[in-house]
Amino acid sequence: MTVGALAGNVRNVPTTRRRCAYCDTPLSGELGAAARYCSRAHRQRAYEARQADQTEQLRRRIRALERQLASFERVIETVAERGPDCAAAVTDALRQETEVAFARLKARRGGANPAG
Ligand SMILES: [Zn+2]
Repeated sequence: MTVGALAGNVRNVPTTRRRCAYCDTPLSGELGAAARYCSRAHRQRAYEARQADQTEQLRRRIRALERQLASFERVIETVAERGPDCAAAVTDALRQETEVAFARLKARRGGANPAG
């Protein structure tokens, strides 16, 4: 096929009102009704963009949770510094939480790891 024939084909391809969801180019009428992208490359780019967006959302969520955790740690330290009674109460609460977390971990392993 010559370049001229190719260009002619491109000109003669009917277009629809639908547009590529990635680059907004009008979709060729030759593409199926379910087509959302002008090409496989743009379907792949759109997928990668969605993945990157989800990764960025998770990074932001992790940073927010880390800030929240640091805040809770400061609260615990502040309470513990109020006096020996408070320090003992904080130590008891932390030990209880640790024991619950350890029991949960042990139950999840379900005895599959006798060494654990
Ligand atoms: Zn496109």
